[in-house]
Amino acid sequence: MVKKYLSFQKSNGIAPYIWTVLSILPFYFIFQTSSTTRIIVGILLTLIFFILYRIAFISKGWPVYLWTLILIGISVTATSLFSYVYFAFFLAYFLGNIKDRLAFFILYFIHLLSTSISINYNIVVHEKLFVQQLPFVIIIWVSMILLPFSIYNRKERGQLEEKLEDANKRIAELVKLEERQRIARDLHDILGQKLSLIGLKADLAGKLISKNPDQAEMELKDVQKTARTALSEVRKLVASMRGIRLKDELLRIKQITEAAEIQLEIEGANTLKYISLLTENILSMCLKEAVNNVVKHSGAKKCSISVEQSWKEVTLTIRDNGKFKGEKDLLTEGHGLIGMKERLEFINGSLDLLTNKGTTLVIRVPNDAKTAKEEERK
Ligand code: ATP
Ligand code: MG
Repeated sequence: MVKKYLSFQKSNGIAPYIWTVLSILPFYFIFQTSSTTRIIVGILLTLIFFILYRIAFISKGWPVYLWTLILIGISVTATSLFSYVYFAFFLAYFLGNIKDRLAFFILYFIHLLSTSISINYNIVVHEKLFVQQLPFVIIIWVSMILLPFSIYNRKERGQLEEKLEDANKRIAELVKLEERQRIARDLHDILGQKLSLIGLKADLAGKLISKNPDQAEMELKDVQKTARTALSEVRKLVASMRGIRLKDELLRIKQITEAAEIQLEIEGANTLKYISLLTENILSMCLKEAVNNVVKHSGAKKCSISVEQSWKEVTLTIRDNGKFKGEKDLLTEGHGLIGMKERLEFINGSLDLLTNKGTTLVIRVPNDAKTAKEEERK
């Protein structure tokens, strides 16, 4: 319970307290007046305001605009009758949540205009209670101008982010679909043809076995050969589908650096958890290319590879103590490095090349642990 309360506090900051104070405050203002009728009217208005405010939040379509207009009316009345201007703050917050752009602007201007007029009216008639709280009135007036826009923009950004996430999911689905179709096509081409050939030849061998055993034996040998080629082609297909795992790539790297007599240090590769297959494949390809470059071009004696995973991203660093031999504009032309950059951009990653004291390549990709966990669950 305590934990729940604390997390509530943490996620909302001081906002709940402000809302509570603003909800109790109208009654303070109402009881400042001496007439009983005004007190009753004030209490009724406040209750109606809060009830309509709640209804406006859960309504959809045109009633929202009707409720908002009534709420603006109540707010202006409360400002004029009781010098209570703080309903405007509730309204400013609500207006920011209106989705329709045109309706938002119209209601925003109606609210701004009517509240400004009622504030001015109170200042002109020198309402004592009102003049006393002038600094707060100014704060409310400024927040009434800014708050709806800031909330509106935040909402819009949130919606765009949601759309982007949906689009990304859709792309991932399409990629999977295309991959499935490719596999189906390959399987059909490789296995379909070969299996029918095997069937035909086996039939023929069956017929020939009593009449012409030599010919039948030849046909059976053909069957055997075709079956073997089909098997090796299926193996190749499966290997290409699996992609390169980082673990396998590191093993290969150990072998080639050993052959090139380069001392290799690997750090943090085992701590990598829950990254998606696609990200892992791209990282492996980049690692392969980077180490090939070290062996081919750097003349280094040492090479170190480090992998770091934070909640936000995975950073892969490949450093050598050789000499960089390329031109400055490498990331805009060439083969290996530019290919690496393009692949990384595909998964929103980045590539940085530092060339003092040897070459350092820093590869960063977003940590997609969440997607990878989902992938694993499927
Ligand atoms: P490819 O990768 O297509 O076989 P490449 O290795 O020449 O060709 P890149 O991988 O783009 O192309 O590298 C471009 C150039 O940058 C290289 O030709 C080399 O001069 C230089 N270079 C890259 N990595 C290193 C490194 N670790 N040490 C020294 N020079 C490097
Ligand atoms: Mg290269």
